[in-house]
Amino acid sequence: MTSLRLAELATTDVDALLRQPHPVALLPVGSTEPHGPHLPLLTDALLSEHACLRAARDLRATGVTAVVCPTLPYGVTRYASEFAGAISLSAATTTAVVRELCAAYIAAGFSRVVVVNNHLEPEHIEAVAAAVAAVPGALFPSQLTKRWGRTLGEEFRRGDCHAGSYETSLVLAARPDLVRDDVRATLEVVPISLSKAIREGKVTFKAMGAARGYFGSPALGTAAEGDALYGQLALMIVTEVRESLGLDGVGVDAKP
Ligand SMILES: [Zn+2]
Repeated sequence: MTSLRLAELATTDVDALLRQPHPVALLPVGSTEPHGPHLPLLTDALLSEHACLRAARDLRATGVTAVVCPTLPYGVTRYASEFAGAISLSAATTTAVVRELCAAYIAAGFSRVVVVNNHLEPEHIEAVAAAVAAVPGALFPSQLTKRWGRTLGEEFRRGDCHAGSYETSLVLAARPDLVRDDVRATLEVVPISLSKAIREGKVTFKAMGAARGYFGSPALGTAAEGDALYGQLALMIVTEVRESLGLDGVGVDAKP
């Protein structure tokens, strides 16, 4: 089996891949965004990339040829702007970049291009959704739907899921070397619902009450939980891809 990462293939490999019945490109999207004092700026991009790698492996196991595209590690990042390291694109640029990338993958011969995003700031989500809606063949599975959100654990459902146990677990499972364990052990719980604060019109993490740029319970994150969460994220991607291709429900049972 050839590499799961498109950019590691030679053009001859890609040519062969595009002759398969359903070549699928998984495009990881994230942000360059502060995630508290214990997680790296690349957290969202890392989560997307790791979920895509897992989903590509699982899709291949069901007979669908999937590859993971190079990651887009930028998006609209305004909530974290009071912390060092928040590097934002405008919504218009985010939409244009994602739309052009999606169109380019379809033009290259992929049956589907799937945008996998883990930066959940509403303005960013809207910008990505607008891009995907403009490109036939582009998909945007969403953790924020009832169907999938309920599978991602208690903290995620409550909405206090920026740099808390949910994201900490996912980074621990993918890149434990990037988690400041000594720091996170000292972090107190910040039991504030990000989704509720957003509905109340607050526009920065500090205004929402996250003085150190995290919500929830970073100290409770574990690699085992992260591994299980990647299984759920991959299941979301596999299922939506297979449904979109008109294939049967095998993906629903394709738990890793
Ligand atoms: Zn994040």
